[in-house]
Amino acid sequence: MKMATKQEILDISRLLLQYYDNAVTELNYRNAYELVIAVSLSAQCTDKRVNLITPKLFQKYPDVYSLADASQDDIKEILKSCSFFNNKAKNIIKMAQRVVEVFNGEIPLNEKDLISLAGVGQKTAHVVLIEYMGANLMAVDTHVFRVAHRLGLSKDKTAIQTEATLVKKLQHNLHAFHQAMVLFGRYICTAKNPKCDSECFLQPYCKSSDSFKAR
Ligand code: SF4
Repeated sequence: MKMATKQEILDISRLLLQYYDNAVTELNYRNAYELVIAVSLSAQCTDKRVNLITPKLFQKYPDVYSLADASQDDIKEILKSCSFFNNKAKNIIKMAQRVVEVFNGEIPLNEKDLISLAGVGQKTAHVVLIEYMGANLMAVDTHVFRVAHRLGLSKDKTAIQTEATLVKKLQHNLHAFHQAMVLFGRYICTAKNPKCDSECFLQPYCKSSDSFKAR
């Protein structure tokens, strides 16, 4: 597969940021506590599904203190329509307990402390920091991975390598690129039947044979 040239990377960046001006996550949240939980629940689960689950969870457990004391069975019941709800229930309770015990009840807003919380890996931590702080970080989920490869921005085999390549090539405004690539992948450059002819504004830069299959 061909890789995007420097000029193409500049063009792609400009068009993506123009199209997704000030894009934000589609997860609903009101504070850092709700964001960390929503992002953790969204692993292997759609944002739509998470948004259906979290109102009840946040109403009953509005902060880390109440969640730290929650019964695992009750949380499992609330999360049961979410994939991996058993593990997610255990993890969010443990996460809340650690925030209470170690961080004075405040969600820590730095990568090192965030990844010390149960169920929070590097990708989740980056998404939280991108969304909440506008941090200049990249996080590679299934959408970002697919889009980066179809546009010839990366030919890496893993999400971690893809992240490093995108950071090197895009450098600035990474939080905005992250949101833009997620939305572009979710609604236009979809895994099956990408909207190459009808909606894609990046077709001239596409390096993927998937685009031709769709025509
Ligand atoms: S042309 Fe199709 S496959 Fe290529 S970037 Fe656009 S939507 Fe994705």
